[in-house]
Amino acid sequence: MKTWIPDARNFAYLNWKQVDALPRESTLLVLPTAAIEQHGHHLPLATDTLINNLLLGHALAKLPTNAPVYALPPVHYGKSNEHIGFPGTLSVSASTFMAVLRDLGASVSSAGFKRLVIYNTHGGNTALIDVMARDLRAEFKLRTFALHGSAGAKFDGLTVQERAYGFHAGEVETAYLLASVPELVDRSAYTSNYIADVNKPELLAPEFAPATFAWLTRDIAASGVMGDPRPATAENGARWLDQAATKLAAALDAMLRFPLSPAS
Ligand SMILES: [Zn+2]
Repeated sequence: MKTWIPDARNFAYLNWKQVDALPRESTLLVLPTAAIEQHGHHLPLATDTLINNLLLGHALAKLPTNAPVYALPPVHYGKSNEHIGFPGTLSVSASTFMAVLRDLGASVSSAGFKRLVIYNTHGGNTALIDVMARDLRAEFKLRTFALHGSAGAKFDGLTVQERAYGFHAGEVETAYLLASVPELVDRSAYTSNYIADVNKPELLAPEFAPATFAWLTRDIAASGVMGDPRPATAENGARWLDQAATKLAAALDAMLRFPLSPAS
């Protein structure tokens, strides 16, 4: 898999003696989680994994060179059963996903490290990340953090509809890939679908509402796209990437400074 992680911050490029020399209390380890799943007719299966690596790599490059932050190899497979029925989707169950995170947390803790952030770029994993961040804190006394997507970047220029419901293979994801791996984007194969209309609020919404319905992609979008990729540009992708990387770097810096509790 292509990587934008700076070599000097790639944990798996170290040998064990170099790991042993890292300061245990201050070092922040970043565990990326993403997915291998359908992204419509125009984006590759690895879209969420590529975006994770792209954003994290650019965020790490913005940190001071002496900041002790290292990226662990990503958990490529996520809980993607909302995309079942689309060839190429490789999903693991919630229990498998959580077990992998638990075991990696145990490994990090047994080596003496104290700070772990799970950086996630697949929506189907989000609830599980929040569960595991707390469970790893409770079981191993790790100071754990959860970090999601573009860390609150604003995506200037998106329509209200795309901002609300363009959450899979839509304008933002397509723009990120146009800016980084345009050879993996099939611009002749764009399709557009929305899971809901932001101008017609219903009592039961798919996301972000007090009352929700559980959805599968095949209920909504035969092509697998939820959003509209057609306005995506490499220029917007590059600008949003820089803005997201700045937000992510600020969050990582705050995690470096966050106090370890007396119990740790
Ligand atoms: Zn995606």
